[in-house]
Amino acid sequence: MIAEAIHQIESELPAQTRLIAVTKTKPVAMLQEAYNAGCRLFGENKVQEMADKQPQLPADVQWHQIGHLQSNKVKYIAPFVSLIHSVDGVKLLQEINKQAAKNNRVIDCLLQIHIADEDTKFGLSADEAESLLSDPALDALNNIRITGLMGLATNTDDETQIRREFQGLKTLYDKLATVQRPNVLFAELSMGMSGDYKLAIEEGSTLIRVGSAIFGAR
Ligand SMILES: *Cc1c(COP(=O)(O)O)cnc(C)c1O
Repeated sequence: MIAEAIHQIESELPAQTRLIAVTKTKPVAMLQEAYNAGCRLFGENKVQEMADKQPQLPADVQWHQIGHLQSNKVKYIAPFVSLIHSVDGVKLLQEINKQAAKNNRVIDCLLQIHIADEDTKFGLSADEAESLLSDPALDALNNIRITGLMGLATNTDDETQIRREFQGLKTLYDKLATVQRPNVLFAELSMGMSGDYKLAIEEGSTLIRVGSAIFGAR
């Protein structure tokens, strides 16, 4: 079942798009099943859960932090995390930089952009993202790289609205990708989940984050 779902989704992906298996709340045995089916990118939204699972899976798994990240928890994932999708301010970036330096690493980060028509979701506005990318404080951060943007569309059946939100994020991505700074190197646009990944692919996603369509409802 898990393998079938993964193979089905992967068969739909264009060359520039990769699948992140979102494994939050799922037991390690299910992650191992996804790994055996060829998955190497895993997404978790809770630091503690990711840190618990990481040593139980093979070392070539790339761990993606997709949920809101508190500064005081960065240290638990800094030794191994592959990409942090949920950066929403320079303070958090400074803490990620500090913990990355302690581990002699450079940690890749995405700026989370608020694109949904909902108050409850985290993220920066387009203006806030633009000003973050021109913040002089970035110059001191040699142990992070900002490699793109992430967004969550509104939870709705209205495909027109979802597509419009993804298009807005892609437009912002294309604009900010022209920013020239040593630690800004746009390559990833993280958008699309179980319910809307097909639309996201059509609108230019490079990373889809799919949980329930692979592992069942949570
Ligand atoms: C849980 C989660 C997903 C996956 O959601 P599904 O609808 O199960 O595919 C994707 N992105 C984020 C940020 C999530 O928290």
